[in-house]
Amino acid sequence: MKFNTKVIHGGQHHEEVTGAVMPPVFQTSTYAQTSPGKPVGDYEYSRAANPTRQALEDALASIENGARGLAFSSGLAATDCLLRLFKAGDEIIAMDDLYGGTYRMFTRIYKDSGLKFHFVDMNDMAKFQSLINENTKLVWVETPTNPLMKLADIQEIAKITKAKNILFAVDNTFATPYLQKPLDLGADIVMHSATKYLGGHSDVIAGALIIKDKALGDELHFKQFATGATLGPMDSFLVLRGIKTLHLRVQRHCENGEKIAAFLSNHPEVETVYYPGLPSHPFHDVAKKQMSGFGGMVSFTFKSGKKEDAVSFLEKLKVFTLAESLGGVESLANHPALMTHASIPEDKRKEIGITDDLVRLSTGVEDIDDLLADIEQAFR
Ligand SMILES: *Cc1c(COP(=O)(O)O)cnc(C)c1O
Repeated sequence: MKFNTKVIHGGQHHEEVTGAVMPPVFQTSTYAQTSPGKPVGDYEYSRAANPTRQALEDALASIENGARGLAFSSGLAATDCLLRLFKAGDEIIAMDDLYGGTYRMFTRIYKDSGLKFHFVDMNDMAKFQSLINENTKLVWVETPTNPLMKLADIQEIAKITKAKNILFAVDNTFATPYLQKPLDLGADIVMHSATKYLGGHSDVIAGALIIKDKALGDELHFKQFATGATLGPMDSFLVLRGIKTLHLRVQRHCENGEKIAAFLSNHPEVETVYYPGLPSHPFHDVAKKQMSGFGGMVSFTFKSGKKEDAVSFLEKLKVFTLAESLGGVESLANHPALMTHASIPEDKRKEIGITDDLVRLSTGVEDIDDLLADIEQAFR
């Protein structure tokens, strides 16, 4: 089945009793049994499994080409569940440019549990390999990254993790499986903030893990069941509905993203544009190799280098909403240093390039003329 069919039919089927084409929202915590330990159907208690969540999880596994999908109450809950595979003394190598909340979890929650984290530029393969030892258990990569659109070469990293028997997880939130399929490229686990493009309508907080190996998927399901951060039935329904138009939306996000990146590149007020689709982007070749399009996320800095210019630009936008988050049908704008990435210490932010004049745009699926006119009036 091709991807555009999979988002609508993959792992999905009509409901058996009524023939309902969309799975009902099974708003129930528990399920009747005919005799102790003999449930009527396949379900016992909704923390373990719920039919609406199951429908979403099967669809997730299908679109990412994994053996098992798991749906969580947030993206961070999905990451948290994955980290429960490891014990004190284990080491994790992560990319040095991460979603702020992921960085916060690694450094402020899990560091104290005895896990050791290394943050490295994944394009410095020699440095990356020098950090690997017998305690290395996981490599964690986000590509493209938030907000600087750095890329990591999934195939090259997978060659190394496979040879050393290390798990390799990719946060695929920005690219979505429409543009990039980490499991096909050699990763073991895909993580999503389904809050973003998978849900696609800014109406739900949700997360996902998709696992290539069935046994590892079952182990993670046990951890999820035993710790409890599952996605509720209504939210599962919303994400499943979102997935059905993922291909259509991301196609338009890419078209609008490319046009906005080109517009900003030629704008006299703009210093640097971060967009993997621009030939000038340092990771353009990696993007062409592993992504089938360049997405809707565009970041840029001001020629003046001034924080006040970024702030007043953001205050003046009218079609773009100034808000955290991304990946919805509506265009959003964000100031990473003051908003999404404020949890990263200032010196660390400077080191990775999140300057005070950096603006991040999540281009929605509105008419491009209105988006460009909005950007232009905000500059003026
Ligand atoms: C939003 C986001 C997360 C965290 O997901 P939540 O659903 O907010 O918990 C993780 N990674 C990336 C790249 C994100 O954009």
